[in-house]
Amino acid sequence: MTTLSVATLPRSIYIEPTSRCNELCQQCPRTLLSREDDRDLSFDKFRYIVDQFPVLERVVLHGLGEPLLNKDLPLMVRYLKERGTYVLFNSNGIALTARRGQALIDAGLDEYRLSMDGATRVMPLTRSGAMWGPSSHYRRNRTRASPWFLCGLRP
Ligand code: SF4
Repeated sequence: MTTLSVATLPRSIYIEPTSRCNELCQQCPRTLLSREDDRDLSFDKFRYIVDQFPVLERVVLHGLGEPLLNKDLPLMVRYLKERGTYVLFNSNGIALTARRGQALIDAGLDEYRLSMDGATRVMPLTRSGAMWGPSSHYRRNRTRASPWFLCGLRP
């Protein structure tokens, strides 16, 4: 491989660990538009993708979906950290238990971005609950933590 070809290889990529989500936010294209089927990226497929980028410096592990829902997320983080890659992702925080958080810390995660709308009860109005009514997915599935978090879909 020539110096020129290495210089032109991608150094920063986004990988979507899952297209599933545990929210139905009212501003999200995933909620409002047609989309691909819900599914997780397997660790083998993840590795197949990563191994095609020999000079990766930074990987963002999110797309349209909640990364914490993929059980292999800590494995993915660890694999990237063993290559010396900076690793981060956005999350709505609903599935962030102490155990999951510790697994990500142990794997070497560099940056966890918790997306929130605010710190008051106005937050549920921007989430699915206000939009979908009393029999909504939101109301049936909400947890104590869920009204207080919102994924902001930052680039
Ligand atoms: S948490 Fe993020 S991916 Fe999920 S519905 Fe809300 S904005 Fe979309």
